Amino acid sequence: MTPSPAPSLPDAAVSQRLSPSALLAFSRDLVQVRRRGMLLLISLHRSDRLSALAQEPQSRSVLAEVMRRVEGILRPSDRYALASHDEIWVMLVDLPGEALAELASRTLRDSLSRSIHVETAEGRTIVQLRPAIGGAWRHPDAGQDPMTVLSSAADAALRAEELEERVVILAARSDVELINRNRMEHELRAALNANELDVHFQPQLSLATGQRAGAEALIRWTRPDGTRVSPALIASICEERGMMSQLTQFVLNTALRHLMTWTSQGIDARVSINMSGVTLADPAFATLVGHALSTWGIEPRRLTLELTESAVVRHERSALEFMNQIRAHGCGLALDDFGTGYSSFAYLRQFPLTELKIDQSFVRNLANDASDRRIVQALVDLAHTFNMAALAEGVEDEEASRVLRDLGCDMAQGYFYGRPMPPAEFAAWWRGFTPAPLRPPVVAIP
Ligand code: C2E
Ligand code: MG
Ligand code: MG
Repeated sequence: MTPSPAPSLPDAAVSQRLSPSALLAFSRDLVQVRRRGMLLLISLHRSDRLSALAQEPQSRSVLAEVMRRVEGILRPSDRYALASHDEIWVMLVDLPGEALAELASRTLRDSLSRSIHVETAEGRTIVQLRPAIGGAWRHPDAGQDPMTVLSSAADAALRAEELEERVVILAARSDVELINRNRMEHELRAALNANELDVHFQPQLSLATGQRAGAEALIRWTRPDGTRVSPALIASICEERGMMSQLTQFVLNTALRHLMTWTSQGIDARVSINMSGVTLADPAFATLVGHALSTWGIEPRRLTLELTESAVVRHERSALEFMNQIRAHGCGLALDDFGTGYSSFAYLRQFPLTELKIDQSFVRNLANDASDRRIVQALVDLAHTFNMAALAEGVEDEEASRVLRDLGCDMAQGYFYGRPMPPAEFAAWWRGFTPAPLRPPVVAIP
């Protein structure tokens, strides 16, 4: 049995978009499936050649082939419809989990990306589509406006068009969560536009010399109602709602502006900023970093960009290009939260990284846990094998600091040395810093 097509389409829908009211009726019908499911919006992203054919019979053969492929992938209970000449809506019904939605989307993308052969007056033409797929969860709870689901899927598809993998699935959320996130997005956008977010700086030290080295810049935001929002949540909203590039530029420019002021006060700190996967996939971002450095007159060696393993893995091709450009500028590149992902030895070697940041989960119990000590030793050695500096995150006490130094770790960051602090406080910390006396090693690895 083939999946049940959603209401039959007026002929016009094949070559032109449905009117807003027809769209609304159509989406209601699609979304009124009474079970939890996911609405996928597939944007076919036709080549110029196909757009030129849009009104012609050949266009119909392409669409017929597209629909045949879609049908071949969907399950009988799923529903689909051709919403316009370059957009398909699919309702995946009763999905047991998020992973299956992602799998279905990738299968659809792969199938629709394969070339399609069409007969034209001039002979045979090969059409290559570059589909982008956005997905939004439909909750069975009463009251969810179908248009909200559809517009979320459309937003996700728009974002997918910018990404290499061309699939963006919004996480499953309840209506209450969605409303909260929508409100937060609105406030965050306003705060970003008005430059009302803060950047705090957390000290980083050289363990070999005991000297201060620089800081990691970390975003901070207090909502108009006075509540603080965690940086991880800020980053997740920015990624989901297409604001990540703006956030990263804000942090970059704020950090470089402070570096400029500090330089004039004799403070030669270096600074690291966090990059998201979305920014890695933006081909213009590396150039933007170069412009920002010249605008603020900062030597590139004083800036390090931090990437996470998952971002690098997800955007492998664009990440490599991005990293090469950043290194060509002369900036540092750190792999953040190292050890929590799935990077392999061989995998790491292909990237021009300068620093490995060992995740805090290995550092927390360093003083009491021999196996954590062995892991950290291995990670430090790994970093050195690839000519990178090793930086340990989350150092909370003197004991951990000493063990790390004995293990040959180059740098450290954590509450023991200093919490993330506002710029003026960081400048005061820097001025008042006195290096701790270096003690001889006392810890042997059992
Ligand atoms: P991260 O980049 O790994 O940053 C280190 C986090 O560990 C910071 O949390 C910092 O406050 C915390 N930390 C540092 N030392 C200690 C310690 O000794 N003990 C403990 N328990 N925690 C420590 P924060 O500021 O909450 O940031 C969380 C994450 O949010 C960051 O992890 C980063 O992934 C993300 N983030 C923060 N700012 C930005 C930003 O500007 N852009 C992006 N894309 N992500 C950001
Ligand atoms: Mg970081
Ligand atoms: Mg980290």
